[in-house]
Amino acid sequence: MHLPLSEILEIVAFTPAYQDGAGSGLTVYYRDGTVRWLSRGLKGFIQQLARSFSVNLAEMKKNFGPLLGQVNLFPLALGPFLLFVPLKIQKPRLPGDPAYGYFKLRSLQQVSDEPAPCTVMLDGGHILTLRQSLRAVRSRLRTARRLELMLMEQYCAIIGSSAGFFVPQQALPAKAWQEIHRLQGIKTSNELEEDNALELHNLMEKIVEQRLDEILAKDKSGLCRCGQCRLDVTALALNNLPSRYVVTERGEAYSKANILEIQLYVDVVSAVTKALQVVHRKPRHSAEQ
Ligand SMILES: [Zn+2]
Repeated sequence: MHLPLSEILEIVAFTPAYQDGAGSGLTVYYRDGTVRWLSRGLKGFIQQLARSFSVNLAEMKKNFGPLLGQVNLFPLALGPFLLFVPLKIQKPRLPGDPAYGYFKLRSLQQVSDEPAPCTVMLDGGHILTLRQSLRAVRSRLRTARRLELMLMEQYCAIIGSSAGFFVPQQALPAKAWQEIHRLQGIKTSNELEEDNALELHNLMEKIVEQRLDEILAKDKSGLCRCGQCRLDVTALALNNLPSRYVVTERGEAYSKANILEIQLYVDVVSAVTKALQVVHRKPRHSAEQ
């Protein structure tokens, strides 16, 4: 059975399940609160989803696994907003039976330790109790969020591909992007060009500038504060940090949540400190400054 893209985008979770008389299959949970049983194996279903989005799972594991420090139970990433996190939902009946279901990261509304060991609430009002600890679940979610950030970077590189940025091999088919854009209310690069009220920013730039200000304000070792050195330090630090693009309305403030999110994952202070040391050792400003 082939699920249309529009239906896949409504899925909030799918878990291995056994039904009397029908054998093993999958329970699929949807955003509108409905539940459907599919007579499908978990592995085959995942492969079908990946094919629908032209995602090469082996390639993705190879590229991102070492960065995440994890290859087993890798999140199923169909796109930057379409990550499914593997969480343990049942004890296998037979050896080799699947124990993990897949839960859409963006559809997890709540994770708590009641009922124990861990219960998740999903879009659509689905409430499922897992077979692993809250701590283990949180660790899986952190990994998935890190992968999402990396995919967001790739995604933004696609938006900016006309400017010569890196374009990943696993770019989604245009139709899938259009559907995701529609659902997420995101504009394509063509629409962006037409719509002058929107601007593209690298949030990392803002954060580096803030950190540099803070470090220089406290510094008593005589670091140079001239314009040339400031720009050199900023450029050097930014070259060693991942970029993080956001689209905002012209003049709109940056989201504090976005900035906090970056600070959780990226050590900006150490990148700025290293850049300061390099520039301080070999400043390019002229002698009279
Ligand atoms: Zn200087």
